[in-house]
Amino acid sequence: MLLFSPITPFEFNNQVFYVKRDDLLDKNFNGNKARKFYYFLKRDFPNIKKVISFGSNQSNAMYSLSVLAKIKGWEFIYYTNHISSYLKNNPQGNYLYALKNGMKIIECGLSNEEMRNFVLNLRDKNTLIIEEGGRVKESEEGIKNLADEIKEFAKKHNLKIFLPSGTGATAFFLAKNLDIEVITTPCVGDKEYLLKQLFLLGEIPYNLTVLSPRKKFIFGKLYKELYLLWKELKLSGIEFDLLYDPIGWDTIKHYNLKNILYIHQGGLNGNESLIKRYKYKFNF
Ligand SMILES: *Cc1c(COP(=O)(O)O)cnc(C)c1O
Repeated sequence: MLLFSPITPFEFNNQVFYVKRDDLLDKNFNGNKARKFYYFLKRDFPNIKKVISFGSNQSNAMYSLSVLAKIKGWEFIYYTNHISSYLKNNPQGNYLYALKNGMKIIECGLSNEEMRNFVLNLRDKNTLIIEEGGRVKESEEGIKNLADEIKEFAKKHNLKIFLPSGTGATAFFLAKNLDIEVITTPCVGDKEYLLKQLFLLGEIPYNLTVLSPRKKFIFGKLYKELYLLWKELKLSGIEFDLLYDPIGWDTIKHYNLKNILYIHQGGLNGNESLIKRYKYKFNF
């Protein structure tokens, strides 16, 4: 697990891009969540018996934590606001796979700061608390490894780095550990919101550029144009995630960005249920 992932050329939209294939790191533990949780994977925590986190009931971080907890022999408790009766009756995607790994999921009706404060207060000496989306300072170690793996290649080919952001932690720590330009775009909220999230991690690195998406996309909402773009990418040879990556590639097209090394951040487990929803909604 976690050997060097390959960088492959990717012809799309009549241009050559390069893609860092972190989706290929491992079958179960891959993408930027594997990088974020690398710190925990590689150390021993003799006192820790369980890990607690919170957030959306389809999140990639939730699934990756279920894998980590299984490897470590920890109990995994995950708090979420609400689980629809549809999902309860038709478990799928990250929710299903995390349950299979032994996740205990609890609906608590809380969100945002209330949820965060509630979970942070559950801390004790046997419990590891992981913030939503894996935004913890420990995530820098694995992301620095990613930076080290791309540094030379990017310089040699004169490439800029591009990746779409949620919390922005991956983009932040990548830029912090590189001296080449890292470009990102917010997928959750707008540019202002992402900048606020980035400030939580410290001073924003000088080489990190945040571009606004072409238009406002509501995170998790289905957009026909994003599905068609995802399909086009897939036909060009690489399957990307359906939540973040179509917004990323739409941004690359919109700004006509060239000489890009794109970071594939995994997340393919979530695609199955999203594809179903897309097919149902748009009759594909
Ligand atoms: C979690 C995730 C992101 C967002 O990562 P941040 O570090 O929160 O910005 C992007 N793409 C995929 C596939 C993810 O799973």
